Amino acid sequence: QDLIARLESTIQNIPDFPIEGIQFKDITPIFLNPKLYEDVIADLVEFSRGKVDAVCGIESRGYLFGIAIAVALEVPFILIRKKGKLPPPFISEKYDLEYGTAEIEMRTNQIQPNQRVLIHDDLLATGGTTEAAAKLVEKQGAKVTQFSFLIGLKDLHGEDKLKQFDAEVYSILNY
Ligand code: 5GP
Repeated sequence: QDLIARLESTIQNIPDFPIEGIQFKDITPIFLNPKLYEDVIADLVEFSRGKVDAVCGIESRGYLFGIAIAVALEVPFILIRKKGKLPPPFISEKYDLEYGTAEIEMRTNQIQPNQRVLIHDDLLATGGTTEAAAKLVEKQGAKVTQFSFLIGLKDLHGEDKLKQFDAEVYSILNY
């Protein structure tokens, strides 16, 4: 059975979470199946092999896959965190949510200028989080060359927000 079919049957759709009308995709059952996890990592590693010098993962589900991708590629892994978690020095980027705004942060001494960077998260929805993450990377003189996700929600057009970065975008599953 191929990876897409195995993932589709493993990821759970949770209606009305975190608010009414939203269908949440729960990826945590992947971790109950080590072989499936391994195959997901192998697939994401294949997409990025030889193409990036560093991997940035977005808190918190982006860490669960991002660090394994980075280790397999033998490149540094850098955490992008929600506001208020990182010690200085760091830079911040605000972005819009459906209601209100959010902010993410990244240490400034961890990415090197001119590095080719993969930004990884579990899921691409509106693209707001990923766009802000890419801005943090490029503000430091590095170049975002790839984005990867387990899931892309096509109807929300997140990829449109990422076009400005002129990078490859890959989601294993697209809904
Ligand atoms: P965006 O900024 O693209 O609208 O939202 C993407 C962020 O929200 C990602 O960090 C992702 O982890 C989280 N997210 C939004 N909806 C879902 C969902 O249905 N399932 C999971 N696992 N994460 C979600």
